[in-house]
Amino acid sequence: MTKYVYEFSEGNGSMRNLLGGKGANLAEMTGLGMPVPQGFTISTEACTRYYADGEAIGDDIREEIGTYIGKLEELTGKKFGDPENPLLVSVRSGSRASMPGMMDTILNLGLNETVVEAFAAKTGNPRFVYDSYRRFIQMYSDVVMEVGKAYFEELIDEMKEARGVKDDIELTADDLKELSEQFKAEYKAKLGADFPSDPIEQLFGAIKAVFRSWDNPRAVYYRRLNDIPSDWGTAVNVQSMVFGNLGDTSGTGVAFSRNPATGEQGLYGEFLMNAQGEDVVAGIRTPQTIDQLRDQNPEVYDQFQEIVTRLEDHYADMQDMEFTIEEGKLFMLQTRNGKRTAAAAFKIACDLVDEGKINPEKAVSMIDPKQIDALLHPQFDAAGLKAATPIGKGLPASPGAACGQVTFTAEDAAAKGKKGEDVVLVRLETTPEDIEGMHYAKGILTARGGMTSHAAVVARGMGTCCVSGLGDISFAKDGKSFTLGGTTYNEGDWISLDGSTGNVYGQKIETVPAEIGGYFGRVMEWADEFRTMKVRTNADTPTDAAQAREFGAEGIGLCRTEHMFFEPDRIAAIREMIVSKSAEQREAALAKLLPMQRGDFEGIYEAMEGYPVTIRLLDPPLHEFLPHDEDDIVTLAAEMKISADELRDVIASLHEFNPMMGHRGCRLDVTYPEIGAMQTRAIIEAAINVQAKHPEWDLVPEIMIPLVGELKELAFVKKIVTDTADAIIADAGVELKYLVGTMIEIPRAALTADEIAKEAEFFSFGTNDLTQMTFGFSRDDAGKFLDAYYEKKIYENDPFARLDQTGVGKLVELAVDLGKKTRPDIKLGICGEHGGDPASIDFCQRVGLNYVSCSPFRVPIARLAAAQSALANR
Ligand code: ADP
Ligand code: MG
Ligand code: MG
Repeated sequence: MTKYVYEFSEGNGSMRNLLGGKGANLAEMTGLGMPVPQGFTISTEACTRYYADGEAIGDDIREEIGTYIGKLEELTGKKFGDPENPLLVSVRSGSRASMPGMMDTILNLGLNETVVEAFAAKTGNPRFVYDSYRRFIQMYSDVVMEVGKAYFEELIDEMKEARGVKDDIELTADDLKELSEQFKAEYKAKLGADFPSDPIEQLFGAIKAVFRSWDNPRAVYYRRLNDIPSDWGTAVNVQSMVFGNLGDTSGTGVAFSRNPATGEQGLYGEFLMNAQGEDVVAGIRTPQTIDQLRDQNPEVYDQFQEIVTRLEDHYADMQDMEFTIEEGKLFMLQTRNGKRTAAAAFKIACDLVDEGKINPEKAVSMIDPKQIDALLHPQFDAAGLKAATPIGKGLPASPGAACGQVTFTAEDAAAKGKKGEDVVLVRLETTPEDIEGMHYAKGILTARGGMTSHAAVVARGMGTCCVSGLGDISFAKDGKSFTLGGTTYNEGDWISLDGSTGNVYGQKIETVPAEIGGYFGRVMEWADEFRTMKVRTNADTPTDAAQAREFGAEGIGLCRTEHMFFEPDRIAAIREMIVSKSAEQREAALAKLLPMQRGDFEGIYEAMEGYPVTIRLLDPPLHEFLPHDEDDIVTLAAEMKISADELRDVIASLHEFNPMMGHRGCRLDVTYPEIGAMQTRAIIEAAINVQAKHPEWDLVPEIMIPLVGELKELAFVKKIVTDTADAIIADAGVELKYLVGTMIEIPRAALTADEIAKEAEFFSFGTNDLTQMTFGFSRDDAGKFLDAYYEKKIYENDPFARLDQTGVGKLVELAVDLGKKTRPDIKLGICGEHGGDPASIDFCQRVGLNYVSCSPFRVPIARLAAAQSALANR
């Protein structure tokens, strides 16, 4: 029989798949002899069963949970529902991957009217008891009713107003008792049933609610953002309560073993006395820094410091911990590897190596490649920043620079961000419901909350700039403007945030690209050492190529020649080529394009400093180059000395019903061999010229024929290429090697790759088209229905962003095997968007590709991801 429940003392840190991260680490800390309140974990498999059983907890699991409640009662010497000595527990979610604040936690479960009265009398602290009670009802109702945190906070605010007090702690026992009655009334009004008073019923209600919260919209969104599969499920931790709200010698806090924003060594955190649970992170009162704990209670501080050091050494990584002090006694409630900014991630990795705690392999493996993005992002232009005066200063919660128009709601931010507008989201504080808007905002500014507030944690995770806790902001009643530094800012006004200093500016400040080096450079050097795949870039211009070189690209995997054709001085020549009626006319037009293309390629070879360059022959449907509106047609016709009608005929004749599957790719060279010949000439002549200038380089141009589906068509186009190239090389009297290969982007090419490899000296997987052709839907149209597919859980993510390993991947693997059979030394690469996606890169490593190619800004991500994959597959 499957075991679904584990006491903390039965588990350990390696069981995170089964116990979730929180449960596994609670078990590990218990095993290390640290002060952890007792409890048990209901496994992720129970959650999976819950969904498989039609959202119900099976009898066998119920029974097992019952047994463990009995054990917990024995361990603690307390009993559920016993007014004299009640067992109170927290019910905490915890999945394999950390999802901070995404799912819900319920505290103080086990309280009811009878218990509360007796407990208040027994402890002699009715305020504490009623505070705990109202929190329990609030959290339980929030989770079960799914109404959001703000719902009950309003009632609390009304109560505070009625009593004329500012802080929660100023409310009396009677106020809190009254609040708990109001909360229960809300519960009944909404759900039509009394708030449950039986602790066992409460417990199962809570467990179910945690299971259900795995599927709430913000958790689903978070998973998609972070590539967490929906079938992992969440574990549920049931833990006996310790109380930070017992009075002035009690408190609760969060701390990091190093600064998560900068990576600086030393304990870093915040705490609040006489508080419980999320009070610190919710920004209800402004917390104290952890240093102040040293002054207030040096003994607890020292004990905590010792535990922190042990935990960091034990996990060999920076820890993010939650703790509670109950009447001067310290309890550990959570530890996990802390989320950190990109800059901090690199510093911490290097420091840990220097401190002898980890080796360079671990340093490379512990950094999330997607995070690198934040480092490559812009900073404020120094001059612009100097000229600006801040209008306020909050906490530097997540570094970087942001400039955008003010928006006040997450929905607005998401809507405008999707349209490509730069927005800054300005909020009192953020909640998990805001996550999508936060994702689309350039920056986030909050009036409340500390460095560990929701806004700060989530922004750091996303690499989005954030300034939090700017208390001077006052919002207008209608929520459509705010005042800061004496000026009122309306929706749409420009502001700028400096997430590294906390400064806020009431104006637009230009941003500039970031500089990279130092710790980043050191880790990347290690990565390059461990990596076995090359990383190339997709670049169409010398500027892009140079940028990619700076980021460490080792060649170009895809140079799209057509992008060069859209420049105003070239489009006329290309249009002339397209409307030509004869091969002679076409050759004349192509002759005009030749020197331009040759110049482009020379620039690109120069920028790539001798590294390999793969150039793809013309690929898109020709009509893309033609004018569409009337004015342009008339102008072009005049330029070309033909009548407008004649031109219209040509345009009409080029119309295609399905251009993506139409007259494009190598089909253009089959119909118009002159095009391929001209392009080959430009590629080869440019190589000869650049080679002559740089004898130290060994240029071997790689000519790539796109959209091949049949060996004979490849052979036909290849012959155009080799005839042209060989003649030029012979004429020039030089030695120049070159390769001719193909894209594998049509399923038929993958299926017949053994044939194709007879002619192709390399394969480059064009996974954009390959995905399109395999799924049978186009990337440009998929946006219209993919959301419905995510919602209905048919797809978990966009197959154009994450390589579909099951289907498209199978074609890639097949093509690799077949290709190698024919040509064992065939060069293999990928040049679709997937070349910059860490999970797809891992796939490429496993199937044995020689290189990945991605856009310049993704090159560092790919270098790190490739190293991680090489290490993982060693
Ligand atoms: P999250 O995953 O959102 O951080 P947690 O399960 O860690 O949620 O719970 C949030 C907070 O509730 C904890 O940081 C801690 O302060 C408090 N808490 C949880 N369990 C207990 C407990 N057994 N005793 C006291 N406080 C608890
Ligand atoms: Mg939380
Ligand atoms: Mg927590």
